[in-house]
Formats: sequence, structure tokens, C-alpha cells
Amino acid sequence: MNYELVILDFDGTFTDVEKEAGPFFAAYKADAKARLGLADLEEAWERCQAIVAADPAHYGWSYEGHVVAPGNADPYLRATVILNMILDERGLVSDPEERRKLLQTLYHANYPKADTVFRPDAKRVVEALLASGVPTVVVTNSETSAVEAKIDLLSPAGRERLRVCGDAKKYIVAELGEPDPRFDALPAEVCVEGLRRPILVRRGHYYRQLRALWDELEVAPEHTLVVGDIFELDLALPGKLGSDVHLVLKEMTEEYERRAVEGCAHGAVSDGLRGVLTRVGL
Ligand SMILES: [Mg+2]
Repeated sequence: MNYELVILDFDGTFTDVEKEAGPFFAAYKADAKARLGLADLEEAWERCQAIVAADPAHYGWSYEGHVVAPGNADPYLRATVILNMILDERGLVSDPEERRKLLQTLYHANYPKADTVFRPDAKRVVEALLASGVPTVVVTNSETSAVEAKIDLLSPAGRERLRVCGDAKKYIVAELGEPDPRFDALPAEVCVEGLRRPILVRRGHYYRQLRALWDELEVAPEHTLVVGDIFELDLALPGKLGSDVHLVLKEMTEEYERRAVEGCAHGAVSDGLRGVLTRVGL
């Protein structure tokens, strides 16, 4: 094993997110229609979905005024981006705090409706990582309990050693609020060929989560591998902090994401999860 710590994203990284989140997507749309009382939501939804699908890099997920991820990367993001677009068009729920609360409520209320569909090799890869003895931690935006339950279903040998840190808020671009030499040295953004907007790096909440692990386990960022399926959310920050980063590709991976990873000093991609084992030398 070439690393002292492996950090894994969960949704889309260990799961086939398009397959598992189909029921989430349908339930989210129905729930939004009911909560907002919009009889014609279906029609607006179809139209906005087509706009996002035609230019997903541009129509990214906007959070607190920043575009923080590609809009079509998975059904969870897609649902949020489409609903934001509809609300903007109609001038509904325009108070940012109210909007944030609505989107968060819809996400958390409907996330449990998603199926659980793991990528091929998920169990084998997790088991190999756990058997290596190297600390392996899941860091996810989803709720800890929801992800713990899914991992229980996968039931890998060594399950008890797989820690889950949920609610990582990788989507929040925010300062740290305290001096920290590593964070202070980060650039605000990186530019990638083929992407008209910058990728925003300074994500204080995600940093706090990573730092807590590095401090607790006494591991340096440089000896850490971070694995994810969305470059901006999972990898842009740790890549700039000196960690090795690994993008697990899927059908909806944007070409610019692949270029962004290949532009990192220690970045690589693989089609499936088995590439992660090759990467760590197992
Ligand atoms: Mg993911």
C-alpha cells in the first residue's frame, strides 16, 4: 500500500448513482410539486432538464451564489439544479436562506427513497482496502446514518473498521474563519480548459473534515489518497493540498473533469473501482 490514509467519497464512487437514484429523482420531483403547489411543474421540469443536459458544465449546481459542481453529474445534483432553475424563472422562494432550507429538506426527505445499487467490485475493493490495515474513511455529503445503512447492506469483511463521516458539506465555498497555513495557501480557483467558469477550491467545511482526520490519524495530506466521482466536490481541494486524487469515471463524467484530474500533480482516473486497488498498490 502506497498510502497511510484512503478517503473515499460514497454516492457515485461506490454506487451506480444513475441506477440507484432513479426513485429519488421521481420522488423529489413529486415532493417539490406538492410542497410548492405547482400544477404545471412537470412541463417546466422537462424543459429545464433538457437545458441542463445540453450544457451541464455551464448549468452547474449553484449554492450560496457560487457554482460548485457540474449540474448533470448525478440525479441528486440534477434534481437540485432543475428545481433552482424553475424557482429562479418564476421568482419563487427567492430568499436565499429559505431556498437553502427548501432544497435541503427536499434532499434529505427523499434521499432514503433511493435504491442501493453498488458498482461492480465495490465489495471486493472495500474489503481489500480494509484488509490492508490502512485507515479507510468514507467522507460524504450525505447523512452518516443513511450511508452507514447502505454499507451494512454491502457487508464487506472488516466492515467495523470502515468509518463514515457524513454531512461533509463539500459544496460550500467558505473561508475557514481561523488562520491555517495550509488553507491560507490555497488559491481561490483553478481554471480548466473547456470550462467557461472557474473551479472554486476554498471549501472550508470540507477542509475542516479532512484536517480532523489528518490530525487524529497523524497523517500528512501528501500520504493520503482521495477517491471521488465529481472532481469539483471531492478532489479539487485535496488535490491542491498535496494529496493524491483519483476520479472514478461514470457515464456522466464531464470531459473537463478528466482534464482537471490529469492536470493535478498526482491525479489519475479509472473506469471502475478496481483501478483504485491498482493505484494503491494492492
Ligand atoms: Mg459522489
